[in-house]
Amino acid sequence: MNTRLIHRGPAMTAVANSQTLMGSVDVAIVGGGIIGVSAAFFLARQGNRVALFEKGEVGGEQSGRNWGWVRLAGRDLRELPLMLQAHAVWSTLHQETGIDVGYRRRGILYAAKTPKARDRYRRWALAAREFGIDARSLDPAEVAGFVPGLNRTPFGGMYVPEDAGAEPQLAAPAIASAAQAAGALIFQNCAVRGLDIEAGRVAGVVTETGRVKASTVIVAGGAWSSHLLARHGVRLPQLKVLSSVMRTGPVETGIEPTMGFSDFSIRKRLDGGYTVASSAVSLVDVVPDSFRFFREFLPAIKLERKSLKLRFGKPFVDELLAYRHRPLEQKSIYETVRVLDPAPDGDLLARVEAHMRAGIPSFRDVSILQKWGGMIDTTPDVIPVISKVEALPGLVIGTGFSGHGFGIGPGAGQLLSEIATDRQPCVDPTPFRFSRFGDGSPIEIQNWL
Ligand SMILES: Cc1cc2nc3c(=O)[nH]c(=O)nc-3n(C[C@H](O)[C@H](O)[C@H](O)COP(=O)(O)OP(=O)(O)OC[C@H]3O[C@@H](n4cnc5c(N)ncnc54)[C@H](O)[C@@H]3O)c2cc1C
Repeated sequence: MNTRLIHRGPAMTAVANSQTLMGSVDVAIVGGGIIGVSAAFFLARQGNRVALFEKGEVGGEQSGRNWGWVRLAGRDLRELPLMLQAHAVWSTLHQETGIDVGYRRRGILYAAKTPKARDRYRRWALAAREFGIDARSLDPAEVAGFVPGLNRTPFGGMYVPEDAGAEPQLAAPAIASAAQAAGALIFQNCAVRGLDIEAGRVAGVVTETGRVKASTVIVAGGAWSSHLLARHGVRLPQLKVLSSVMRTGPVETGIEPTMGFSDFSIRKRLDGGYTVASSAVSLVDVVPDSFRFFREFLPAIKLERKSLKLRFGKPFVDELLAYRHRPLEQKSIYETVRVLDPAPDGDLLARVEAHMRAGIPSFRDVSILQKWGGMIDTTPDVIPVISKVEALPGLVIGTGFSGHGFGIGPGAGQLLSEIATDRQPCVDPTPFRFSRFGDGSPIEIQNWL
């Protein structure tokens, strides 16, 4: 494998394209992010004929742009069993793929800015212990012990030593290559324009190079899933949030765990630098879907109103005009936008950089090597959909990972493979059922961070 640059995003490890496509497969997968490639990996190993279609390149969108946190810490309790399973898969990836994807269990620590945050972290740690997780509450001195020279005094913190980081630019490509080695076919620069539907059930996909028959289709299209499904009358409430990231050059800090402060977050990278970002502010473009899904997202908007920065402008018109569905024989938006590559929020990153340099002296003179943006796809209750769709037999959805799908991705891929082939699921998939958005279930949002 070699590396090459895409747009403003980080350099991804390239994955070789499969050459020949048979006319039919057992399972077709839309999307080559960490969810799609992990599903392909497990399905191929179970002996299924699998073809994965990626409109751009494997990992080119969220899965290659994220912060690289692989965390239980602060996670929605409904996701913890699947995240524990994901850690188990991550632990074997090096051996399974032959590639070091940078998975290192250095722990994840959140420092509390206020007593209220400290109490919330304590409550989470208590709840997490019920799942057998070694979740610790730290006092201020213990937090400081992890950060040599820390220029502030947090109100304690929460620490999960078994949590990890991994390298986003390596992980999805490595899993994709392992899936190929197990027999999966992977086609990049090959968009799926829509589903092939016969007699009320899914019969395959319509790609830009032709139809491919499949009795099961997994839609793992990240920020595009809702748009693709809407063509077929499947209403998936999903919106996009811009997250901005930067990385430093190599620097000696003595800080090992991945750490979240209220105004900046850091993860030590394999190359000796740090990935730096902040979730203190999220930028949301107001687009036609903002109105379409307003009712479902209202609880999340109320909860996050202090950290949401709304932006009105060109994206609204772009999506209104360009995102209309065209006949399947014509070029689609997925071919026009091969890689969703938003510009980062420069003002936010400037503030994050200033906080980091002021907060931790060893970062004072470090160079910033790169800045980029990524569009997070989110659901109203901020947990994913990993589910069949009753109204459309043959359709399985694996999407809506709401800003924390990288870490859980390998576990979610395993669960998707089991749902798609009617095997015993590795965890109870009920919290992730698609029907929760249409059957009157209340929208429950857990906000631990
Ligand atoms: C800046 C940022 C920081 C984040 N930090 C973290 C973190 O630290 N830890 C964590 O766990 N998560 C994090 N996340 C979230 C995580 O990256 C995502 O939840 C996860 O990568 C989602 O994976 P995915 O496969 O669903 O989507 P994606 O990686 O977006 O992949 C979907 C793929 O589908 C393709 N596609 C879409 N439509 C079509 C079509 N019609 N035909 C063919 N292909 C199609 C797209 O091109 C894309 O490559 C972060 C996200 C961002 C943006």
